[in-house]
Amino acid sequence: MHAFIKRSTLTTILFIAAVVTSCQEKQSPAEVKTAQNQTESITEKPLALVIHGGAGTIKRENMTEEMEAAYRAKLQEALDAGYAVLEAGGTSVEAVRSAINIMEDSPLFNAGKGAVFNSLGKHELDASIMEGQTLNAGAVAGVTKIRNPIDAAILVKDSTRHVMLSGAGAEEFVGQYGITMVETSYFDTEKRREQLHKAQGKEKVMLDHSSLLDKTPGRDAAPIDDHKYGTVGCVALDKEGNLAAGTSTGGMTNKKFGRIGDSPIIGAGNYANNLTCGVSCTGTGEFFIRTLAAHEASNLMLYKGMKVDQALEEVIRQIQELGGDGGMIALDKDGNVAWDFNTAGMYRAFRKSTGENKIEIYEKTQ
Ligand code: ASP
Repeated sequence: MHAFIKRSTLTTILFIAAVVTSCQEKQSPAEVKTAQNQTESITEKPLALVIHGGAGTIKRENMTEEMEAAYRAKLQEALDAGYAVLEAGGTSVEAVRSAINIMEDSPLFNAGKGAVFNSLGKHELDASIMEGQTLNAGAVAGVTKIRNPIDAAILVKDSTRHVMLSGAGAEEFVGQYGITMVETSYFDTEKRREQLHKAQGKEKVMLDHSSLLDKTPGRDAAPIDDHKYGTVGCVALDKEGNLAAGTSTGGMTNKKFGRIGDSPIIGAGNYANNLTCGVSCTGTGEFFIRTLAAHEASNLMLYKGMKVDQALEEVIRQIQELGGDGGMIALDKDGNVAWDFNTAGMYRAFRKSTGENKIEIYEKTQ
């Protein structure tokens, strides 16, 4: 009985194998190629790119249809520019650069053209980049003439043994590499000037009521901003499975001359590690520095085994507890997208090789 079952099973297997072989023989070369391509695309690593254009009091009721359409179009343009690099086999760093350049060149965002004014009515720009594979990083802080600060940050990463250069030294260094320099007035926009006047008007009212000020020695009144930040950031995952994160900003309206925010500080406003995730932050930078927000998210994944969305949620909770506000975007090593914020809205979007493409502006929907 036992032997019979074994013999009949063997016969069945041989029969199926013969049928499969004969079917394969009938496949045309084109069919075989298509089947191969399908297998390859199943095993191919995912491509993914996520961007933000700042968090803040971004409410539907304050937005016109034209403004919303303009933001959506620019976010899509940035997504597409970055994604095209990934699709062509480019690195995650180059994808981040392409996406961020589009937003830096747009007056809609607080980075490059359209950067906010500091308390002296000047612009001081910060940017950083980090690679998840090597943990190499580059940053510039307080630069005033570099049209695309993210390009300067990449140059610092690639062409120096340092991580961060600031001010005139940074400008002199990157100037030697043909990076585009502009007149400082290039960054001026009417919208940002109005925001400065509004913030300084509010500050004056507060000073006139100085009993309201925090009298702790060495402290100023709470920073005043109209909470429409507009910093830009991008995280990308390339075909080699390498993550990169970049952030670029004009900082905060009416900030003190010389103030440096979280955006150029590796681990605070920007971080990438292939073991965990890439992160870019936006919001009141001081809180992101104090919590080392981007690195904290990576560590929560590494040491606590959190998923990327849980890690962001926990960091935003910590920031909220300190009285801070803002948002974060991230991609994990498998291309899972996460974003979180405790402000009314955040300009955010992602595109993936699964075909997903999403742009969101207002309150969280997931
Ligand atoms: N985080 C930036 C800073 O503090 C501002 C922003 O995200 O809009 O400089």
